[in-house]
Formats: sequence, structure tokens, C-alpha cells
Amino acid sequence: MSLTSFFDDKSDDEVLNAKILVCVKAIGTMPTSTSKEGDPVRTLNVVICDQSSEATLSVSGPVVSSAILWKEHSTILLLSSPAKRLGYNLTITARSLVEINPNVSEAEHLRRWSQHENCPINEPFPVALFDIEAIAHAPIRLQFTLASLDSFIRASPSQPHTGYLSVILTKLHLLSLWKRQQLFSMQCRCGQPIYANVRSGHCAACDTSEIKLRINANLVSEMTDETGAISSTSFFLPSTSPHPPPNRSKTTQVPSMSRQHSRRPSKILWTDEAWTQLLGRSPEQLAKLVLDTGDGSAQAQHNLNTLRYLEQRLMFMRVILLVGWTGDDEPGGRLAVLGVVG
Ligand SMILES: [Zn+2]
Repeated sequence: MSLTSFFDDKSDDEVLNAKILVCVKAIGTMPTSTSKEGDPVRTLNVVICDQSSEATLSVSGPVVSSAILWKEHSTILLLSSPAKRLGYNLTITARSLVEINPNVSEAEHLRRWSQHENCPINEPFPVALFDIEAIAHAPIRLQFTLASLDSFIRASPSQPHTGYLSVILTKLHLLSLWKRQQLFSMQCRCGQPIYANVRSGHCAACDTSEIKLRINANLVSEMTDETGAISSTSFFLPSTSPHPPPNRSKTTQVPSMSRQHSRRPSKILWTDEAWTQLLGRSPEQLAKLVLDTGDGSAQAQHNLNTLRYLEQRLMFMRVILLVGWTGDDEPGGRLAVLGVVG
């Protein structure tokens, strides 16, 4: 049964025999309480989800040692006879059974759905997936259009594809992200989005500090070529793109197909090197530049003008990107920008 029907169900008997298939969404902190006998009790709160809803699963005792190894958006749990608690909370009792990563096709389906839906706002670049040196020096170089890349991916979604894309940067958010203190971002391991204009952040939700932040992928929020458009938050934009390319063919099916393939939440992954090549400065140098922009001094004004000039210079610039498709398996199928080569 789904999480929603589990919580909506008012008859206790049926819930006793409930089986719910869920995905681990976030693993919380572990407050230690004391039992009646004075022994420390470890309790772990795990946010779980399915297509209907999300809830918090509290686990304690020996299960905690297993639960701390669960992976967000990857571990699937089949909960048999969990106990309902107030609100959208549930727990495991002596009567319950937890099967981890059950070998059923529904589990794989739920995992993929979760990875698509819960694409983190930012994440470390999956360096192990691409040998960038080898790809950049390969004798055969594929030149994609957005439409042809889409065809390649649809033909074999689990295969990694690499090649070159020539696109125009049609939407940039350098200044607006700076104003909103969101130039750098990362998703905390508890699931909380962290934003700042500096390279390190603190999570107020779970009190984790020194979280290494990366450049917010929304800095380049839209790129366009003659066959389609791609946004930092959606693989291909609907045809109502505010900047339609001049030669867009009326028969191009890219935008509508992307909806059927539900690639909407897959954010583009950029390497730090690609950001450095695009912006002409490393993420550290960008952080340094924006550090002194708020105090009204001559230096602050100069730095702000540099940011403004940078955004204006990049706007509508044509760039050639070395790109790679991660494959659909991990982390749910994402497009990566490995380098800006021209
Ligand atoms: Zn956190």
C-alpha cells in the first residue's frame, strides 16, 4: 500500500498487516535519549517517501547500526506492519519487518523515480564517471545538437554519451544569485538546501558546518541551439521558451518528448574546471570577488562592476561545451558539462 493510504487508513487491523515500499529520502541526526533503566538509547529519524507522500520513520535499537548505512534516494525499504505514530510518523516495533532493497521490479522503479524527483540542488561532481582527459583527446569527436543528443540518449539511456555541443547562453543569473546570497550551493546530507555567496556553508537543520559549496548550476539557467533549449533545472524546455532559436523547425519534437521521459528535474552537473573556463576565474576567485561587494567602498563598487560586466559579456555568447551523459543508472541520468572549449 502507499504511504498516503497507510496514514489515511483508520482500521488498525489492516494497518497491522500493511506492506509499504518506500525509498530513503534523508537520514537525520541521531539524538541520544535515556531508557527507564538509565541506558542510552539511539534513535534515528529517516525521511522516507513513495510516489504518494513522505513520512518520518523512527528507528532505534539494533536497527540503527543498519540504518546509518542506508543511502539517500537509493536504499529501498519494504516495511511490513510498521506502527503509526502521530502525524506522518511511523516506527518499527517487534512485530515489524524491514526488508532492505527487496529484489522486486517495483523497488527499482521507485528508486529511479526518487532519483529523478529528488535531484539535489547541487552535489560533488561524479569524477569517477568520466575520464575527462581521455574524452578530450579522443580521436573521434562527436558534435551533437540538443536534438541529436536527445535521440542518442533515448536510444540507449543507460549508456554514457560524450561529445560537443555548440550552444548560446540565453539566460544567466550571476547578479541575481549574488543578490539573493545564492551564488554557491550544496545539498546537506540531511536534505536541506544550503546557499551562500561564500564557498563554505552551515546547515541550521542538522548543525553541520564547513559544508563545501559549489557554484550554483542556475548561474547558467538556459542554453539554446537551433534544435531546442536546455535549462539548468530541466533537460529540455517546453516549446514556450522565451528565447526560441530563429531556425527552430516546427516538426522538432524535443520539448514534448522530454515530458514523457520525465527528465524535468535533472540539473546539469558542471565541473569546477568548466566553470573556470566559462567565467575566466576559478570558484575560489569568484568567491573572493563577491566577498567585497557590500560595503559601498570603491573596491566594492569595482567588484560589482566586474560582476555586471561578466554577466553582460557572457549573455548570448556562443560556447562549445564538452558534455557527457551520465547514463540513467546513477545518479538518475544527468547531463554533465565537462569543459568549455571555445
Ligand atoms: Zn543538514
